[in-house]
Amino acid sequence: MAAPKHDYYETLGVDRKASADDIRKAYRKLARKHHPDLNPGDKSSEERFKNVQEAYDVLSDSKKRQMYDQYGFYSESGFTGAGPGGPGGQGPRPGMDFSGFDFSDFFSGGAAGTGGAAGGGGRRTGAGEGPGAGGGFRDIFSQFFGGRGAAEEQPPEKGSDLEYVMDIDFWQAIRGMQARLNITRYDICETCHGSGSSGAGEATCPECKGSGHVSQMAGAMRFNLTCPRCGGAGKLRNACPTCGGEGRVPRTETVEVRIPPGARNGSRLRVAGKGNAGTMGAPPGDLYITTKVEEHPFFHREGDNIEIKAPVAVWEAALGSKIEVPTIDGRALLKIPPGAKNGQRFRLREKGVMNSRTGQRGDQIVEVVIEAPEAHDEETRELLKKLAKLHPEDPRASVWTQV
Ligand SMILES: [Zn+2]
Ligand SMILES: [Zn+2]
Repeated sequence: MAAPKHDYYETLGVDRKASADDIRKAYRKLARKHHPDLNPGDKSSEERFKNVQEAYDVLSDSKKRQMYDQYGFYSESGFTGAGPGGPGGQGPRPGMDFSGFDFSDFFSGGAAGTGGAAGGGGRRTGAGEGPGAGGGFRDIFSQFFGGRGAAEEQPPEKGSDLEYVMDIDFWQAIRGMQARLNITRYDICETCHGSGSSGAGEATCPECKGSGHVSQMAGAMRFNLTCPRCGGAGKLRNACPTCGGEGRVPRTETVEVRIPPGARNGSRLRVAGKGNAGTMGAPPGDLYITTKVEEHPFFHREGDNIEIKAPVAVWEAALGSKIEVPTIDGRALLKIPPGAKNGQRFRLREKGVMNSRTGQRGDQIVEVVIEAPEAHDEETRELLKKLAKLHPEDPRASVWTQV
């Protein structure tokens, strides 16, 4: 049940002997790739971006890097300064991975907590706290800060929200779709119906499987840790043997999701009650699905509008014409007025995307791209020369008045 570990070198994809320059280059490349502005709504990119920032923060500083190399983690305050923090205490920053270290060496009290919440810094919420991620990390922090003791009863806690990113293509976004997602979430334990209690007897501690301690790796070193769940006893009194007293168990289930027509890139959909179950029967969190919509090679979406570029012949533009253009419903006629200019934009009303929230359709915007005819044959060349003679005026005349 260790928290997901981020080896800083692995995060940046560099060798442990990498030079400062290599580290900087790797950081720049990854930071660009995962920047939230370039991946709107993408939680996994956001998470990676944070990890990259954190890795670079440590590895770009020779002192921090040295400490990281030696101990497998880096702390702002070193060993002695990081005393117990009250609520909102100055804990290590979120995402800091201390999971490999045996803090009981520094805090003789170990798991015997004094009560009160752990410092705000160490808590992971949202996507980070899926099943499997909630154990080691948080428990170690609360031990560290004198948080909940092992034998102590925990108060019921509302389940956390889950965040999923769903890739859909252009047409699925426009038409909407029904999807079945396999979601791994904490669900109410069926044995104890969420109470976490067995009523009688003892259950083997699920965290340490009864041994009373857990071991974790940090780089090449292995650390022993008193089991944070049972405080070293290896057993939990009155605890449900299925969920170990938590009242919930990780389970993968299929969730039916309806993506409404007109979903945009970054649209966030809430599925109430399908987040993680709460502990001890507390209410569940919600599931949030963010849609990531693939670009179409021709139709470009701008909100509810569709934008396209339509090639137009010189004579169509000069004389005016009715041209056929593709829309998301099929072909449509667009009237080009005589004397249309290159780059001029025309609007086809309500040929855009249906917005299921407003019940209205956007427009299609057609940008005219005037193309010169190919003059391979003699007759075309003659005609164009004749045209040139008829129009001796300088086509760039207006340009000269502006410079
Ligand atoms: Zn245990
Ligand atoms: Zn149970």
